Amino acid sequence: MIGNLLRIFGLAIFCSLPSSPAYAEQREDQGRWSIAIHGGAGTIERENLTAEKDAEIRAALSKALEKGSEILHQGGSAMDAITATIILLENDPNFNAGKGAVFTWDKTNELDSSIMDGSDLSAGAAAGVTTTKNPILLARAVKDNSPHVMLSGKGADQFSREQGLEQVDPSYFSTPRRLRQIERVLAKEVSAADADYKFGTVGAVAMDNDGNMAAGTSTGGMTGKRWGRIGDSPVIGAGTYADNRSCAISATGSGEYFIRLGVAHEICTRLRPPKPACEFVEDIGGDGGGYAECQPVRLPRAEQVQSIADDVMSELGDLGGTGGIILATPWGQTIYSFNTPGMYRGRANSDGEKSVAIYGDEE
Ligand code: ASP
Repeated sequence: MIGNLLRIFGLAIFCSLPSSPAYAEQREDQGRWSIAIHGGAGTIERENLTAEKDAEIRAALSKALEKGSEILHQGGSAMDAITATIILLENDPNFNAGKGAVFTWDKTNELDSSIMDGSDLSAGAAAGVTTTKNPILLARAVKDNSPHVMLSGKGADQFSREQGLEQVDPSYFSTPRRLRQIERVLAKEVSAADADYKFGTVGAVAMDNDGNMAAGTSTGGMTGKRWGRIGDSPVIGAGTYADNRSCAISATGSGEYFIRLGVAHEICTRLRPPKPACEFVEDIGGDGGGYAECQPVRLPRAEQVQSIADDVMSELGDLGGTGGIILATPWGQTIYSFNTPGMYRGRANSDGEKSVAIYGDEE
């Protein structure tokens, strides 16, 4: 890793920092990719999960990670990898996204999603949708096939139908476990916060062979949400962000706080290397020709990336927010940061590293 960073560091000396993928074009380590996923953060402790549930969650994370890894390994794009990964997690009732989404106060399921392409900063999002089987596909369709970034409610459902995306009866999203949760909240047996002891939102971030970054997030939001409440997950810059110059992020947690801090954008901004200072050096001969000599750009090491993400998450904690993020950098690192006891998570890369984890004390 250090060797690679040094190689990139060396190359960065002579490149002028671009606003888009030219940065990636300077990479010498073509053929490298990385991916990270999450399935929500929260009070996820060993005593809260049976051995069977623990194994089931790990298997689901592993399967999703393998799907994304396979696409990246075959040379597919980060965008395709995260989309396919998130679809699998949305279809799994263990997570609060797609099937298995939490219920609103009115006992409906209203789904939010977003996606962003770091190569051109294009983005799409959908909020409060009720019939699209895979909301991440709707976010992608908004990005690719509409002039807008975010659609909501009935209009988003209509756009989804017009795009030919698979529609389901709203009852498809319901599961007995989520129904029990909302009924207990409505009966005032538990608070909505306690019902949501783990958030369960899903997300993925990736860097592909070409150095392009992508991020996506999908959720049912928070149990008992009212009045058309929209969380951070479909808000570009809060729950999702991707920029080839800095990072790709997907978040999970108490959305209001992530929105207030603009967590995903804030972390990426702190990670973006400065433009190199360059000086024009004239060729000997005085014919007006010359070249630009630039100061080296220091790219952040993994520990620095971790500490920048942790700083922002700690500011979120100071405000009263809880949750976590997954992060990938264009330099090949993947990072988790969360202030909850656990987070469903996993990561893999082209060096053959692959892991899934649940509790805070795991790697
Ligand atoms: N961040 C989501 C929201 O506030 C909830 C979650 O992560 O599960 O809607």
